[in-house]
Amino acid sequence: MIPSALSYTKAGTLDEALAAVAAGARPLAGGQSLVPMMRLRLAAPEGLVDLGGLAELVGICEDGDELAVGAMTTHRSVAADPQILASCHVVAQAASGVGSLVIRNRGTIGGSLGHADPHADLPAALLAAGGAVIVRSSRGERRIEADDLVTSYLTTSLASDELITQVRLPKGAARSAYAKFHRRAIDWSIVGVGVTIGSAGTRVAVTGVGDRPLRATGFEDVINAGGSLDEAVAQAGTGMSPLDDLDGSAEYKLHLVGVLARQAYTEASGR
Ligand SMILES: Cc1cc2nc3c(=O)[nH]c(=O)nc-3n(C[C@H](O)[C@H](O)[C@H](O)COP(=O)(O)OP(=O)(O)OC[C@H]3O[C@@H](n4cnc5c(N)ncnc54)[C@H](O)[C@@H]3O)c2cc1C
Repeated sequence: MIPSALSYTKAGTLDEALAAVAAGARPLAGGQSLVPMMRLRLAAPEGLVDLGGLAELVGICEDGDELAVGAMTTHRSVAADPQILASCHVVAQAASGVGSLVIRNRGTIGGSLGHADPHADLPAALLAAGGAVIVRSSRGERRIEADDLVTSYLTTSLASDELITQVRLPKGAARSAYAKFHRRAIDWSIVGVGVTIGSAGTRVAVTGVGDRPLRATGFEDVINAGGSLDEAVAQAGTGMSPLDDLDGSAEYKLHLVGVLARQAYTEASGR
């Protein structure tokens, strides 16, 4: 299918991009989710502003006790980065399992978080890590914690004139892991679980069981109170109400939450 007519601008500076977004243009990052949605006419923006020329949005560096990852950094770069692998493994591992190599070469961490697909891996991994995003508009800059970022199906707490410029990853999330279940290598997660064992306790986040990534508070409460892994796994799906659909029944998905939480927790513990 051919997308509807639209205007296209390639931003030369971040200020140009912010002005275009404030004027109603939709940001275009790697195009791996937005372009397919436009071809299916599930999205019909009147204008696009391409962020692909903004070198300042690409790259990974240390900043205090966090890693600062530019929003236009690709999944492939995130997955291979030695600092992320060492300090916030759950995010690198989630990025390494996104789609195929072609998609990981184009798709970006900022695009994935901005898109907020309920089966996406990066929003759940960021939530498990306890990370955050930095967003900018012509009005200024603010920080949104991962717990507050995705509010509903394909919806974030960003205002319509805001862009994600940076993703902040805690360096204290080394003991972490991401486990996903999907049928073919290129497929999205049916269910994915990220676990971080940090100094403030264990955080567990799940994708594929709701309209947004969810904290597995049942699992967290048991483990953080000194309970056994078996007890925690038994509580992993507490409060989650996945849908029966073509991927499987709600019961099956809740079973996967427990299996993957055990897998990711065991892997994180050994790191
Ligand atoms: C076949 C296939 C398989 C896939 N498999 C997986 C998978 O297994 N797991 C997974 O997690 N994902 C998967 N994806 C999606 C992939 O991760 C995309 O890269 C990602 O969802 C969107 O990133 P993008 O850079 O391509 O963003 P785009 O498609 O360019 O944009 C996506 C949305 O985010 C907005 N946006 C982009 N950048 C910003 C920004 N800086 N600030 C605010 N909003 C922004 C856009 O306006 C748009 O609404 C798959 C995609 C395909 C086509």
